[in-house]
Amino acid sequence: MPYCSNCGKEVREDQDVCLSCGKSLPHKSQKKVYDETESTGGYAVLGFFFPIVGLILYLIWKDDRPKASASAGKGALIGVIVSASFAFLYFIFMFVFMFLFGGFAFGFGNIIL
Ligand SMILES: [Zn+2]
Repeated sequence: MPYCSNCGKEVREDQDVCLSCGKSLPHKSQKKVYDETESTGGYAVLGFFFPIVGLILYLIWKDDRPKASASAGKGALIGVIVSASFAFLYFIFMFVFMFLFGGFAFGFGNIIL
């Protein structure tokens, strides 16, 4: 149990002020609060183009900057999904294209011969 630095009375840790003397109590466990009124959309864009950076920022800021962390994490997630979708679509497109134009067999023939 902590004690009031002013009057020496026992105080609870979640108290903001001492109930005996009214002195405001310092919160040792209080985390550094960031001003999150700034726009965090930029971190989403950053995460989108550099998912690894977004993921790292997400992990670093998870506790201290939940808003910026969420933005970076969301951007990274969308970036990964979009990249994967494009890779998948490209694969499908190439497969269909080769199949339709008979290039599939031709392509394999080239590799074998
Ligand atoms: Zn006190």
